[in-house]
Order: sequence, then C-alpha cells, then structure tokens
Amino acid sequence: MRYLTEHLAAHGIANPAGEARFLVLDLLGLESFDLVGAGAAPIGPHGAARLADALHRRLGGEPVARIVGAWEFWGLPFRLSPETLVPRPDTETLVDAALRLRPDRSAPLRILDLGTGSGCILTALLHEYARAFGVGLDRSPGALRTARANAALNGVGTRAAFLAGDWCDPLAGPPFDLVVSNPPYIATPVIAGLAREVREHDPMPALDGGADGLVAYRRILDALPARLATGGAALLEIGFDQAAALDDLAGRRGFDRRTVVRDLAGHDRVMILTQEIL
Ligand code: GLN
Repeated sequence: MRYLTEHLAAHGIANPAGEARFLVLDLLGLESFDLVGAGAAPIGPHGAARLADALHRRLGGEPVARIVGAWEFWGLPFRLSPETLVPRPDTETLVDAALRLRPDRSAPLRILDLGTGSGCILTALLHEYARAFGVGLDRSPGALRTARANAALNGVGTRAAFLAGDWCDPLAGPPFDLVVSNPPYIATPVIAGLAREVREHDPMPALDGGADGLVAYRRILDALPARLATGGAALLEIGFDQAAALDDLAGRRGFDRRTVVRDLAGHDRVMILTQEIL
C-alpha cells in the first residue's frame, strides 16, 4: 500500500493514500472497514499483476472509480458502466434538499428521476423514503441496466421501475410528487476545457448540455407541469453559474416559487421549483 501511495503521489495524484486504498480494497474484494486488521496479508502473484495493471491505468489518467467499476453515493455502493456518470458528491445536495423539503420519511411519495444514469439519485431517495415508489428514465439501455442492478443491490429494486425515454416522453400513470434530475448541463464549448479525467472517461451525453448548457432544462421544464402532482416539487441540479438563467427560464414558464440550494463548497447547485397549492 505504501509503495502504491508513493507511486501515485510521485505522479501528482491529489489524494494518493485514499486512492491506493480503493485500489487495494477492490483487489481484495473488501469493504473499507475490512481493511482494518487485514495487516500484511500477501496478495500473491495474480493480485500483484492486477494491482500493477490498476496502477498503470490510474497513471494513464483513468479515474479510480472507472478502474474499480463502482463508486459510493449517499453512503451506498453503485456499480458503473461506460454509459453512466460517476456519481458526484455535489449531487448529494439534491438528495439532501429533497429530504428537507419532504421530511416525512414514511410518505408514500411517487418520484421521477429524469436521466437516471447509474440510478444513484432515485436509489438514494428510495432508500430514505421507505414507502416511496420511483421511475427512472434514461435514453441509454446500458444506463438502465446499470440503474436496475444498483436499485436491486441497495434493496429498493421492487419499488423502482427503469424505463427507456427522453426528457419529455409521456408516461402512463398518475403524476409525481417529486421530479428530480441531474441533467447534462455543461455548455458544449466548455467541454474541451474540462479535466481529462472527466472529458475522456465520463459519457458525453451525460455532460453535454448543448450550445448554452440549458437545452435539457428547457425540455424538462416544458414537460414538467404535466408530470407534477398537485403540491409536487421539482429539484434540478444546476451548474454553479446557472441559477440566474434557470430562474429566468422557470419563471417565464409559470413556476412562481423557485429556491436555490448551495452545495458544501458554497456554489449554487440545486433549483427547487414548487407549485402553489391553491
Ligand atoms: N442521475 C445521474 C447522476 O446524478 C446521471 C446524471 C447524468 O448523467 N447527467 O449521476
């Protein structure tokens, strides 16, 4: 582990000890707490070869999450596939905002997650709301397979349905109490300037928000009134500099109650749109 840490550090990796830990844990098939007391257990020649391969990939710029093929979100494990974004800690702000908005954990909420990807947002919410039911929509069949596996892995598979569809495809069934989404919101011209680890390893359809970064929001907002139940709320993740633009778009579409929530770094991160209960 020390060798791995030093090697990663020497190549300028920002969190070498943490990343070394992830790679070793994956190799040993362990959860983080198992490592305590694992001591100097030998990993054998096969393990050494796998670790060397992982190190090679890491130093080639591949994120640890991609090498391991899984990542943690909201304290829960999520499998990844090439079609899914690596879940970001910033997105936990959205889950947290939903829980503050609807504090009753036993409410039988109906939740819709647009562009569900790995299914991380919906799975985390279903994990917290024990009687909720959710639909995850995505255009990518690969993402839908991954999301289904993740819901099952975290014990909420029987309360989730994952469907192929676009932002605004009509859905059968009653409208939703919560509509959540972390849509692609990076403006196309900005993508070239993203960190290589993101640009080369996260799926482009999960990042690219069109010429001004707002294409997905316009479509989501247009379809939203028909999807929200009376008294329902939409929680949309936004880029740190998009609050004013989205506020304007939502205002012009008649959403008269709009709240911005900041992430732990103090950046605008989530826009909450609620409907007046008349
Ligand atoms: N909902 C998924 C996530 O938050 C996917 C988001 C995306 O691909 N833009 O990770």
